[in-house]
Amino acid sequence: MKINSPLEAYKYLPGTNCGECGEQTCMAFAAHLIDRSKKLTDCTPMLEEKFKKKFKELQALLAPEIREVEIGVGEKAVKIGGDDVLYRHRLTFFDPTAFAYDVWDTMPENELVERVKKIQDFKKFYVGNFLTLDMVAVRCVSKDPKKFADAVKKVIGTTDLPLILCSFDPEVLKAGLEVAKDKNPLLYAANKDNWQQVADLALEYNVPVTLFSPDDLDTLKSLAVTFAKMGTEKLVLDPGTFPAGKDLKKTFTNFLKIRRAGVEGDRDIAYPIMAVPLTAWMVQDDAVSASYWETVIASIFTIKYGDVMIMHSIEPYALLPQLHIRDTIYTDPRKPVSVQPAMYKVGTPDKDSPVLVTTNFAQTYYTVESDLASSKINCFLWAIDTDGIGVEAAVAGGQLTAAKIKKGIEDSGFDLKNDTTHNTIILPGLAARLQGDVEDETGARVMIGPADSGRLPGWMEKNWPPKAK
Ligand code: SF4
Repeated sequence: MKINSPLEAYKYLPGTNCGECGEQTCMAFAAHLIDRSKKLTDCTPMLEEKFKKKFKELQALLAPEIREVEIGVGEKAVKIGGDDVLYRHRLTFFDPTAFAYDVWDTMPENELVERVKKIQDFKKFYVGNFLTLDMVAVRCVSKDPKKFADAVKKVIGTTDLPLILCSFDPEVLKAGLEVAKDKNPLLYAANKDNWQQVADLALEYNVPVTLFSPDDLDTLKSLAVTFAKMGTEKLVLDPGTFPAGKDLKKTFTNFLKIRRAGVEGDRDIAYPIMAVPLTAWMVQDDAVSASYWETVIASIFTIKYGDVMIMHSIEPYALLPQLHIRDTIYTDPRKPVSVQPAMYKVGTPDKDSPVLVTTNFAQTYYTVESDLASSKINCFLWAIDTDGIGVEAAVAGGQLTAAKIKKGIEDSGFDLKNDTTHNTIILPGLAARLQGDVEDETGARVMIGPADSGRLPGWMEKNWPPKAK
């Protein structure tokens, strides 16, 4: 993106504040263009003929440095690339790394279907969202176009997840494309030997394609330039993922070089990058070591700068670290992850149930909520609006105060005197210093819970119900 302030984007907008984009003012819309929560086409007046020139200019200025490539169709389609910065804290990273897991065309049908279902159905609840897997990579092991096409057909019949069709043989890729032509699959891959035929396929079927040039960035760039001249910029670059030793270091350096050049304005190489941690299986002797090493490689290239990856292990011990590191890297550092400030019920609380206070920082809220729910403690849990900041920092920074707690109570419509028999609030241990102020502001009795919500069950046993004063 060549502009990064709403004011710069605003200059190109109609300035009528007509509200058709869903915002009250053009300036508010401009802010959403910059944080990418709205698209330029949401401003319908800009689609009129008289704004055509400004539309094109602004579109070019808003385009990310790294091209965005879409794979798949419908709700499950993934977008990769789309980044503007080398360091997450300078803005944020967009389009989380897409994780593809492999199947192959020599698998017995029942095993293939079962594995695809496992890839599709895997999910892990984490701070308010489900972490899931994104794609299926179908590898041709048989070297037989028909067998490959049959495997692709079975995968399509089992899942809507986007596909990567993997073979260096254009005949095999064509057979897969014939079956998957409506699914916008990613081709893997064109190299220096087959590029002409694979380019023809990518253009004929209008699908994205990976360019593969192991440890040869000049050839990779020249392939990208050639494909762009032929008419497609739906490209993904694979500079090779060498899984161990000095070669792994070289791989890392290649990823840095490609992304740095792209972000700094070399359009010829400003495309998403593919990593293939699956290569870990070439250098490890047993499955556990290979899974472990695959996860290590996936973690490295999730941080820098893999946009899509092909992997093999679907064991939870491999998936969980991969998904968690991706979630961490791709949260927006400008906005703490938060939940809606509100009074929540845990279990089936009644008038005798405890009322606990926490903040609306998602990680804190879900940790406390799950500690309470897993111990079957029926209670009310107040998520106070602290701008998504955790308890200790919010107390220190003034986002969690007695006045905020009182306002949270009033906003929720909950009446401590009438809706409970005890008129008592339990503050987190890390907010103990607010006890007196909260008592003064709310008129409620205030108890101090443990600093760690994991200790709430034990604390409840000793302290709840509160003894009469
Ligand atoms: Fe402004 Fe366009 Fe939104 Fe209307 S639709 S308020 S002109 S940005």
